[in-house]
Amino acid sequence: MSDTKRVWLFEEGNAAMRDELGGKGANLAEMSNIGLPVPPGFTITTDTCNEYTKNGGQFPDGLMDEIKKALAKVEEKTGKKLGDPENPLLVSVRSGAKFSMPGMMDTVLNLGLNDATVEGLIKLTDNPRFVYDSYRRFLMMLSDVAYSDGANHLAKHDFEHIFYDMKKDLGVTDDLQVNGEQLKQLCETYKAHIEAQSGHDFPQDPIQQLQDSVAAVWKSWNNDRAILYRQREKISDDLGTAVNIQSMVFGNQGEDCGTGVAFTRNASDGTKEVFGEYLMNAQGEDVVAGVRTPMPISQLKVQNPEMYRQLDEICTRLEQHYKDMQDIEFTIEHNKLFILQCRSGKRTGPAAVKIAVDLVNEGLISKETALARINPELLDQCLHPIIKPGAKYTLLAKGLPAGPGAATGVAVFDATRAAEMGKGGEGKRVILVRADTSPDDLKGMLAAEGVLTERGGMTSHAALVARGFGIPTVAGCSDISVGPNSFTVNGKTINEGDPISLNGTLGEVIDGTVDVVDPEMTGEFGTLLGWADDAKRLGVRTNADTPEDVALAIKFGAEGVGLCRTEHMFFAEDRRPIVQAMILAATEEERKVHLDLLLPFQRNDFQGIFEALGSRPATIRLIDPPLHEFLPSMDSLIAEVATLKVTHPESRELAEKSDLLHKVEGMHEINPMMGLRGCRLSIVFPGIVEMQTRAILEGAIAAKKSGADPHPEIMIPLVGHVNELKAVRSNLEKVAKQVTEAHGETIDYMFGTMIEIPRAALTSDLIAEEAEFFSFGTNDLTQMTFGFSRDDSDKFLKPYVAQKILPGDPFESIDQSGVGKLMQISVELAKKVRPNIKLGICGEHGGEPASVAFCHQIGLNYVSCSPYRVPIARLAAAQANLKDGGSNRDR
Ligand code: PEP
Ligand code: MG
Repeated sequence: MSDTKRVWLFEEGNAAMRDELGGKGANLAEMSNIGLPVPPGFTITTDTCNEYTKNGGQFPDGLMDEIKKALAKVEEKTGKKLGDPENPLLVSVRSGAKFSMPGMMDTVLNLGLNDATVEGLIKLTDNPRFVYDSYRRFLMMLSDVAYSDGANHLAKHDFEHIFYDMKKDLGVTDDLQVNGEQLKQLCETYKAHIEAQSGHDFPQDPIQQLQDSVAAVWKSWNNDRAILYRQREKISDDLGTAVNIQSMVFGNQGEDCGTGVAFTRNASDGTKEVFGEYLMNAQGEDVVAGVRTPMPISQLKVQNPEMYRQLDEICTRLEQHYKDMQDIEFTIEHNKLFILQCRSGKRTGPAAVKIAVDLVNEGLISKETALARINPELLDQCLHPIIKPGAKYTLLAKGLPAGPGAATGVAVFDATRAAEMGKGGEGKRVILVRADTSPDDLKGMLAAEGVLTERGGMTSHAALVARGFGIPTVAGCSDISVGPNSFTVNGKTINEGDPISLNGTLGEVIDGTVDVVDPEMTGEFGTLLGWADDAKRLGVRTNADTPEDVALAIKFGAEGVGLCRTEHMFFAEDRRPIVQAMILAATEEERKVHLDLLLPFQRNDFQGIFEALGSRPATIRLIDPPLHEFLPSMDSLIAEVATLKVTHPESRELAEKSDLLHKVEGMHEINPMMGLRGCRLSIVFPGIVEMQTRAILEGAIAAKKSGADPHPEIMIPLVGHVNELKAVRSNLEKVAKQVTEAHGETIDYMFGTMIEIPRAALTSDLIAEEAEFFSFGTNDLTQMTFGFSRDDSDKFLKPYVAQKILPGDPFESIDQSGVGKLMQISVELAKKVRPNIKLGICGEHGGEPASVAFCHQIGLNYVSCSPYRVPIARLAAAQANLKDGGSNRDR
């Protein structure tokens, strides 16, 4: 037997004990201690869950004794006893991990009911209907979580079928039309069903019921949806869940009873108002399961002003105490208010920003706390497209605005189908339409652009999960009637595959597709990011190839361009034929003719970018990919030639195509990513980068004339040996000098390189002699360090992550101990030779918060990422610096 205390009465714990007691347990403890009306109870620690799993599903020695002791205290406080037919105590058994995972794990309510206590409770309440309704729910819940094995018929829906059949036989549709005597009969049917399916009686001993429920909650830590949720939210599988056992209060004992969920502020847009929903004469599950559509909390003010007043007062108290927006579950039992749970409330990105800024303005938290509190990824939702103002569209129906943002896609009615067709599957834009959603729909929701439900409220699991993941959602849209493959609304039918749109901000369901646009960067969002800029050390630039993207990124706060991939400019329709002719040229003279034609295009591109940037710097990378990427594919040419040989054997077209095929075959490489690309191209075909350098400088001169102050940083990619850089740079220096002298202008330009080959990282002291700046190309550096193809390593990376061979996808977040170590070595070596060398990152990692923090730690000057990630990187950079002591001296 161990000395570890595994069971904590609520009054023994506090809010700081989230690791041990889980979020819910720690908050129940805190609320009990500050005197809020919390029904008595106790918590079994998270470690006990891990012990149970490690023991192969055995209760640790001595645990049941500890539980019984705690139970005795609860019995003393409530004056009731578990299993006592005269005055039975009923308890709930709920999961509660350190980080909230709404609806992902199991819960059992009304525990303690058996054939004897049912009789006692009827005597006490004089309400047989309520008692048998509670009993049938308990029989169903405990069987579903503890005795159902997937093969027998003890899952919740099996019991619901039995109830449904009974209602059909009785000729009624609503649960409330079934009377006490009929529910008693239903309980008998349920018990017989349980015995037939499981081979044992439903346990009458409450201690056995308790033991089975606790074990079921522990097991639910590892159910599929909990695992998927943790993967998405990056919650460790090792934490385990606590179990909270709490005396029951009942919201379903009549019209002076009720239950609900309240947020202390609006979780969708952050407005300071009590926000939420409730149902009178109902149990908690009815609200969160989204089966009945509840009433908005503002209605409680009218229906029961005294209860509303008390709730409002408690909301204010909790906010002042926790200094954050709280999500509260409450129950009213015969006009007495109880708080069953409180936690920091899940909120949308826009709400997170508004609430944080408002709390600073109200003097509750500091700016630093506001910045530290927001998950940078949430800002993405503030950049969500909105329906183009003034756009005309046909409204099909209106529901609840459960998740903000606009979404367009084709209607899909099944979560599995949505997962197959949508993001991560075929990549189509789908809108998942369901009568109501259950946590099992999570996979389909994540794959969808938006979610539409017929039933369920703002605080249903569907809404909560969708808001958490930023999925535009319209819930509780009772105007629509959802069938298996279609929905109808006002006589119109929308079938699978028909386009629809949602405006999750207003709860609108729209016929067909709509135009969507980006939101503005003003209000609280602008304020918060202004604070972030003041608090960060790292600069944030953008990866952009067009003046439009540059302008967008500047709107989002970019301080310059960190990567302009110049070859993207070659793909435009009007340039492709010239590019192809240039590549296929037989001689250097011929190549030059085509390059001269390309020059004005690139010059204009660069001029536009410099003008959009004003005085901000731009790192412009010279051509990088293998040239055959610009040519028709070899396979399609082979097929075309084969066809022409049959259809037009003597034709000129066949001769031309055969010649092209011959040339393309000549350029074919087995490993193009490791072939003739980057600086290797600049050495073998110097004309291309000479033209590009000329275009950059002429574009800069033109932009300067129109009032800009350009600072081009010319970047030579894929260097592995310093001699490569030396050769290319000295050639291009000549071109640059010649252009500026010819125009009689000075331009503040510099030459630098990318570090994307391990050898370059390891010889950075030598390379820094020749480079005025480095930019870490962590896409290629990851590819070459691991030897993983960046284009098709998904096949094994997914199983690698699932099997925990790797902690995550190294193409998403920097592999700090490997790739990161090379970066660190490179930084140290480079700074020895050139202490003021400018250092940045332009791989995809530049907009990922953990990687941004790493770049801060190793002393880079800036990160660069796509325009939409710029605000995320700004906040992540501020958080990294605040964690580090908050100095921004070397910016
Ligand atoms: C990189 O390799 O990280 C990089 C930015 O270059 P590209 O993705 O264009 O290869
Ligand atoms: Mg690269």
